[in-house]
Amino acid sequence: MNKVALVTGASGGIGAAVALELAGLGFDIGVHYYSSREKAEAVAEDIEALGRNAVLLQADLADSAACAEIVEKCVQELGPIYVLVNNAGITRDTLLMRMEDDDFTSVIEANLNACFYMTRAVVPLLLKAKAGRIINIASVVGITGNAGQANYAASKAGIIGLSKSVAKEVAKRGITVNVVAPGYIVTPMTEVLSDAVKKEISDKIPLKRLGQPEDVAGMVGFLTSEKAAYITGQVLAVDGGMVI
Ligand code: NAP
Repeated sequence: MNKVALVTGASGGIGAAVALELAGLGFDIGVHYYSSREKAEAVAEDIEALGRNAVLLQADLADSAACAEIVEKCVQELGPIYVLVNNAGITRDTLLMRMEDDDFTSVIEANLNACFYMTRAVVPLLLKAKAGRIINIASVVGITGNAGQANYAASKAGIIGLSKSVAKEVAKRGITVNVVAPGYIVTPMTEVLSDAVKKEISDKIPLKRLGQPEDVAGMVGFLTSEKAAYITGQVLAVDGGMVI
């Protein structure tokens, strides 16, 4: 197995932690980013400090051709991909009554379409290798729904359906596809909330704390390991017990 992983949104909170976790497990990393080049460069430096190789991959993942291009570049620079982590994602929260067409479609495109484009671009490589792991980052709100997040919850529920279907298509070649569903994780995506709201949320979480990016990264690392070889088509919540 060629230890190469492509992590989308590796310039963000969870993606950066996932990229470093996988580098620590011996993977060379395709570090995808969209607009935060400096953050992506810092992540690549940290990966190299761990003795692994990193290649920067810039793309708007809502663009199908751009997805195919970064997969090709990653393979050229690092060799065949073994792990794909579809992590990039956005929110545009508002109540349904106020939700504009673009609020809905932009979130579906950046979250769900991107997951489809990236998965379709990588699957032929995994089929050829008869090995590989795809890990898609959804959210517990894709299971429960959430007021003010009809667009986001729909995109994450879509990722779950996509993942389960692809898991069934590729299982006979030894490839697994799983979903990690984080609860509330402290990252730039969530730091817009006030301390009072954060306290209210953590009080409702059975484990009584907000999640850290490393909590999610640990699960992703496990899913890439030999110990997870018999797990596919599953949705694994990393949420401190928010959804039990
Ligand atoms: P974040 O820090 O805001 O990072 C988001 C990442 O997505 C960034 O790397 C960003 O790239 C990238 N991105 C945004 N739009 C893009 C586009 N059109 N094309 C390509 N890349 C794009 O968010 P995070 O909290 O780490 O979230 C990571 C994933 O976990 C997301 O899928 C999110 O839905 C999911 N999640 C997060 C939480 C949470 O509480 N934080 C909970 C459940 C699920 P640039 O910065 O380079 O533009």
